[in-house]
Amino acid sequence: MKPVGPIPAGYESLGGELAIGGRRASELVAEAGRTPLFVYARGRIDARVAELRAALPARVGVNYAVKANPHPQVIAHMAPLVDGFDIASAGELALCLAAGIDPARISFAGPGKRDEELEAAIAAGVTLNCESEGEGTRALAIGQRLGKAPRIAIRVNPSFELKGSGMKMGGGAKPFGVDADKVPALARRLIGEGADWRGLHIFTGSQALSANAIIEAQGNVLELAANLADAIGAGLPKLNMGGGFGIPYFPGDEPLDLPRVGAALAERVESLPAALAQSELCLELGRYLVGEAGVYLCRIVDRKESHGTTYLVTDGGLHHQLAASGNFGTVVRRNYPSAIATRYGAEPTEEVNIVGCLCTPLDRLADNALMPRAEVGDLVAVFCAGAYGASASPSAFLGHGPAPELLV
Ligand SMILES: *Cc1c(COP(=O)(O)O)cnc(C)c1O
Repeated sequence: MKPVGPIPAGYESLGGELAIGGRRASELVAEAGRTPLFVYARGRIDARVAELRAALPARVGVNYAVKANPHPQVIAHMAPLVDGFDIASAGELALCLAAGIDPARISFAGPGKRDEELEAAIAAGVTLNCESEGEGTRALAIGQRLGKAPRIAIRVNPSFELKGSGMKMGGGAKPFGVDADKVPALARRLIGEGADWRGLHIFTGSQALSANAIIEAQGNVLELAANLADAIGAGLPKLNMGGGFGIPYFPGDEPLDLPRVGAALAERVESLPAALAQSELCLELGRYLVGEAGVYLCRIVDRKESHGTTYLVTDGGLHHQLAASGNFGTVVRRNYPSAIATRYGAEPTEEVNIVGCLCTPLDRLADNALMPRAEVGDLVAVFCAGAYGASASPSAFLGHGPAPELLV
């Protein structure tokens, strides 16, 4: 038997079924007209943002990292909830503009921005988080051509990282950001050549569950930003401090102690170095805002035995749930939180392998999991599907196509 990850608190049973946003799984499937599907609960997103606002000092804003879930309705739902939007492509820019988001609230990070993308961002008035000297030079030239000063912040590649983070994005050689020691010269050049200077972006990692690690990284970020501001000789209108707040996916994972992170940050914000006294501060969060609000529902289409092992074969799989299958940035495959949605809360009685419908042994949703007995037609729920599910999985693989997404 292999345990499954912890189901996020608050997912209750309604008439023997998993309820999402107060509605039974089978009712949601009927509304979508098919399985598999993603369901995102507005109420959970709202509650998460409210928790954050309560924990964080008012001085620190919250940005939504759109890549976690760029569904148009999710972006529109976020618009009044968060302060800013962090995008990483012209595609995400178009989605934000279509949702009516003020470009002044949008910042654009990501290595390898093409000229067309820079142009779209500069024309719209979006802040570029500049990833290199070359990108800064191209942005200035495009701004000149458009007759519009590009709004530019510099993304710093810090020499430290967010410890225990699921994906390391800082420390040592990286394709992301400008090495910290090269930032002052670049900033002075950009300012000198007419950029609308916006400050710094320092992202140190992702998916951290340790409050201590986040608190330490935030201290390092503030110190580095203050030193860089002094070296640049210009203030920082804004400092994007990164994020990295994680959610529990696997057995043994404990939720982040948010109040502790918030209290430590409040203390730091009380005594900011002079260089940051006037700076607008923000965090950028993706999965922490939306991950636990999403559930992936798929249907069991076959139940079979092989060499004494029971397989529940579903119509879902890694083409929608690459991360849950264990093939997106994990070394050792572990089970995501999952359940039989149509027998939710029933006594678990058998050990099963829940797999997807793709012809590859990689397509696993839960290995050796203890579940209530399920039959063909029952629904399987994979939790923590609100971030990096639909948008970060190869939906074209084997021709199944994307799954519908419902915001409820
Ligand atoms: C991916 C990414 C994020 C969001 O990460 P989460 O783990 O979803 O919070 C934020 N900022 C940058 C620069 C990123 O690349």
